[in-house]
Amino acid sequence: MSNVAILYCKNIKDHSCIACSKCYKGMDEKNGEFAMHDDIQLVAMTDCGGCPGLAVPRVKLLSEVTGNLARPIDVLHLGTCMKLAMETAGCPIDYEDLKVTLEKKFKVQVVLGTHSY
Ligand code: SF4
Ligand code: SF4
Repeated sequence: MSNVAILYCKNIKDHSCIACSKCYKGMDEKNGEFAMHDDIQLVAMTDCGGCPGLAVPRVKLLSEVTGNLARPIDVLHLGTCMKLAMETAGCPIDYEDLKVTLEKKFKVQVVLGTHSY
């Protein structure tokens, strides 16, 4: 069982990707990057902190809250929305830098992407 948290793009969620329904389906079907898990327990889902890229303080808060609730994050997925934002929409986040920082600071595995629909 993996304790999974998801960050979504604040600009995309509920605009071009509605209500996170694709990620919920993806988790059920182990679609896309969710295929790496045998079982998924979703412990948190929130936005990236917004432009110009406040993901580190966001994940700090997220780690504190989930830790306090005794549901610490094992794997943090950056949603497919964030992946698309980085690849096609001028997102200021540098994924490789962010991954190294988050994994070192918060002892979580960081994965780029979620569903593939
Ligand atoms: S890719 Fe996933 S996390 Fe991002 S907005 Fe769509 S359903 Fe939500
Ligand atoms: S473009 Fe990037 S920094 Fe801006 S809201 Fe989306 S994921 Fe966050």
